[in-house]
Amino acid sequence: MKKILLVALGGNALIRKGQAGTIEEQLENLKIPMDQVARLSRDYRIIITHGNGPQVGNLLLQQECCRDIPRLPLEILVAQTQGQIGYMIESTLDSRLMEMNVRPPRYLVSLISYVVVDEHDPAFLNPSKPVGPVFSREKAVSLPYPVRKTSRGYRRVVASPRPVTIVEKREIRRLIQADFIIICCGGGGIPVVREGRSFHGMDAVIDKDLASARLALEVGVDILIIATDVEGAFLDYEKSDRKLVSSMTTGEACRWLEQGHFPPGSMGPKIEAAVEFIRGGGARAVITSLSAIESAAVGRAGTEVTR
Ligand code: ADP
Ligand code: MG
Repeated sequence: MKKILLVALGGNALIRKGQAGTIEEQLENLKIPMDQVARLSRDYRIIITHGNGPQVGNLLLQQECCRDIPRLPLEILVAQTQGQIGYMIESTLDSRLMEMNVRPPRYLVSLISYVVVDEHDPAFLNPSKPVGPVFSREKAVSLPYPVRKTSRGYRRVVASPRPVTIVEKREIRRLIQADFIIICCGGGGIPVVREGRSFHGMDAVIDKDLASARLALEVGVDILIIATDVEGAFLDYEKSDRKLVSSMTTGEACRWLEQGHFPPGSMGPKIEAAVEFIRGGGARAVITSLSAIESAAVGRAGTEVTR
């Protein structure tokens, strides 16, 4: 059986810093990771997860611009981004697979995915993750949700609880066994809590790196690759003598995390995800750039977190 590779794509796989984020730009940017994924699919079974920060931000902005239509809760917007980004990834990857004539033919599926969170997660007491547009102070006080002053201005903040379990893990295992390429857990998944036998959506966002690590453990992934817009994890990232670390143990990772080398909301959750995956029994975890996914798979790029 081929090994299972999970590629977690950062928001910049679709929209680069400074870009407006047109559909043409997003589809063009996606070619870089999808070319590599298409080639990797010859040797690995593949799961793709992705972020949704800029996309969900735009939907939130659209809501604020059009007050004739009722505002939709965040969980619905996350579901919308799973649809739109899943479609973009699928169509880009499908055309690359066909151009490369990858055999046997590979089938793709994008899955609307929910992730269970704990309603008593302390994150719900202190919403801290900024989402959506920047508001003026006057506008901010009139909004129907918590708002916080950030370096860019006033923004809505939501809770970012820990992922507990992926609801569709059994379906994903079955699809992987059948050698489907699966796109799932977009934007970290739709956050839900259990209510008896059913689920109830929450106004929150789940970190996509932490959700990817959870998924990786729950479906038995061999290699977790977290692809972003830097070569890997650096020590003293903000200083002129920053150092790229090619390999760190989970112990070193935790110590450097504590010392503040990997900030929350950016490199921090990637390191935490890699540590969680390795300590949970995963074989390999690498943080790398979007253009070096193939090299990272064979241990020639990025930052590997080892036992
Ligand atoms: P993604 O959308 O891929 O999740 P993030 O913006 O959340 O991307 O995280 C990647 C960013 O983390 C990089 O662009 C970089 O600016 C920032 N970063 C912060 N600290 C570090 C560090 N120690 N090493 C590498 N990158 C870091
Ligand atoms: Mg991120």
